[in-house]
Amino acid sequence: MRVTGDQALVKKLNKSIVLDTIRRKGPLSRTDVSERTGLNKATVSNLTAELLQQKLVEETGPGESSGGRKPLMLLFNEAAGCAIGIELGVTLVKAALTDLKGGILLERSTPLARHDPESAFAAIREVTAPLLEAAPETPYGLIGIGVGVPGMVDEAGVILYAPNLGWEGIDLKTRLEAEFGVPVVIDNEANAGAAGEREYGAGRHVRHLVYVSAGMGIGSGMIIDGQLYKGAWGYAGETGHMSIESDGRLCSCGSRGCWELYASERAYAYAEASEKNTAADDKKSDAADQASPLPSLTTRELTARARGGHEETIAMYTEIGRRLGIGITNLVNGFNPEKIVVGGPLTEAKEWIEPAMLEAIAERALPYHRRELAISFSGLGSRSAVLGAAHLAVSQFLGRVRVSL
Ligand SMILES: [Zn+2]
Repeated sequence: MRVTGDQALVKKLNKSIVLDTIRRKGPLSRTDVSERTGLNKATVSNLTAELLQQKLVEETGPGESSGGRKPLMLLFNEAAGCAIGIELGVTLVKAALTDLKGGILLERSTPLARHDPESAFAAIREVTAPLLEAAPETPYGLIGIGVGVPGMVDEAGVILYAPNLGWEGIDLKTRLEAEFGVPVVIDNEANAGAAGEREYGAGRHVRHLVYVSAGMGIGSGMIIDGQLYKGAWGYAGETGHMSIESDGRLCSCGSRGCWELYASERAYAYAEASEKNTAADDKKSDAADQASPLPSLTTRELTARARGGHEETIAMYTEIGRRLGIGITNLVNGFNPEKIVVGGPLTEAKEWIEPAMLEAIAERALPYHRRELAISFSGLGSRSAVLGAAHLAVSQFLGRVRVSL
């Protein structure tokens, strides 16, 4: 029998649908899979036989019988391999070794003091070394590495522009693939976070999701109709550079009044400058004229102050929350999402940010847009991007699952 390209393609698609159904909804019997996918039982049986042989699916004890013999249940074998997720942040590099279902086996992080690509590469090597050592023996071994970066990434994985790192045109993917000998996926940190939340966190089963990542900047990952929206050339989601003040603070991107200067950890620098000015009352600090100055205090230090009742810090967080709500209102009115998930390091200050943020959205978002809108903070805490990055690698690996004809 001649096998046409189309048949091979159809079989590959069906196989990935079966695998995906078992992965998301398992344990399922073959009959369940057939009912959920609309594929006939013979097709499901053939495809699951291949998946069992490939060790991506396992059979487990008999399930509930609807009369007759009890069926064997099918489960995704998350222990068939492992993945590494990396979040390359402006001040911190984090990495996690996971199984194929996002279960964390080991995590490491290291501060990033210098932003040149060599230092970042050395930090990545440092955090991944113990993970590689700890990786268990599995049928597929390390299946890939996913990296979330604070910048714009093209389809080939080249980091085109990362203003917060001062990078332009850095091909981290080729370099990491040469070093580690496994496929590497690079994506924007907010896209990775959106994927993590949708797969494992607060965005599960949400078809229209906007994930807002607030740390040393703001980026958004937008899932529209179940798909990550990347724009015409992959640059969508740079919401931190939406102007919310027409003649506002000067930004490193060249514009003024960018959202992230008011509603991310960047805002700390302006609060520090104004505190200094009032205290010394001498020549004005130049923070106001500098583009995107970096703060000297961290969220951990500032939340400790807020917890101790420090009024200026609490007022600063209230203002950050209000500004966050204003930007989110623009996204809500523009995209009409089912759910907004706020994640990233700034969420450690949730307690002081959230009330003002919700109030601003309630006051400003259009009534129909906010009627059934759900707003929540990240379900994965500060791990959305690292788990999402690992998932990007897993998803690429599962998409490559070969079909035998
Ligand atoms: Zn900007």
